[in-house]
Amino acid sequence: MNNEPRMRVGTGFDVHQLVVGRPLVLGGVEIPYEKGLEGHSDADALLHAITDAIFGALGEGDIGEHFPNTDERWRGCDSLVFLREAVRIAAARGYRVANVDATILAEAPRMLPHVPGMKQRISEALQLPVSCIGLKATTMEKMGFVGRGEGIAAMAVALLEQSDKP
Ligand code: MG
Repeated sequence: MNNEPRMRVGTGFDVHQLVVGRPLVLGGVEIPYEKGLEGHSDADALLHAITDAIFGALGEGDIGEHFPNTDERWRGCDSLVFLREAVRIAAARGYRVANVDATILAEAPRMLPHVPGMKQRISEALQLPVSCIGLKATTMEKMGFVGRGEGIAAMAVALLEQSDKP
């Protein structure tokens, strides 16, 4: 036994701008839509929020420190790479993800049909059963930047627990 806490919780939040000429990728799933998220990587705001929740739980800074947007390695990068790396860092610290809960804030398109696919991708990256992934989507009732369709935001909470392995 060590002196680290048995459990750690972290939160993550991310926003990307919606622009024409980019694919819309959320939760590791490409969603057919007239616009996509702008960013250095694939700009998957949902995976970024979950990755930041894991880094937050570990007290390991944020996704921007681990994967700087000035680094050409991460241009157009599949954000599942970031999520898997956060899981690897957690494991190196003696933790595994216990469960994740996340919410997508988007006025359009409809997210519900894509939620099962997103959960599947996230569960694979986290090496967790799908039943340990909470994922919801809400509009902002036409208010603010999300409501005007200028961008998509995501928030997430991750609970980590010490793994049994030393
Ligand atoms: Mg981001």
